[in-house]
Amino acid sequence: KESQAMKFLRQHMDSDGSSSSPTYCNLMMQHRNMTQGWCKPVNTFVHEPVEDVQAVCFQKKISCKDGQSICYQSNARMNITDCRLTGNSKYPNCTYRTSQKERHIIVACEGNPYVPVHFDASV
Ligand code: ADP
Repeated sequence: KESQAMKFLRQHMDSDGSSSSPTYCNLMMQHRNMTQGWCKPVNTFVHEPVEDVQAVCFQKKISCKDGQSICYQSNARMNITDCRLTGNSKYPNCTYRTSQKERHIIVACEGNPYVPVHFDASV
């Protein structure tokens, strides 16, 4: 079974990639199985080494969007791609807008080892 940590890697990590193409999100959301059963509406990919993203669990503590749990904000800006489902996209044809950004990422972490399990936001 896929662990929460593995799910984070599948949904959010693309260390060696970059979103140089406007079709990046259409392809990646499909390749990473986020368009099976429904179109996941928003998702972010991070183009940085896995160790650098895992290290965020020990960086700036802040509250998550839910206002309840603890999240962590990266000290450095990171190269990311935001994927957002277009308004007229209808399952199973999931079409996304691809936008490349340099931002601080915010994640929630769990477990031992303490690793990212949820991508909360970027700022
Ligand atoms: P993501 O939120 O990274 O886009 P999912 O929603 O598929 O991806 O999975 C998030 C996982 O992280 C869930 O198993 C959820 O229980 C867990 N999680 C831990 N902390 C939080 C949090 N603060 N907000 C949302 N999900 C969280």
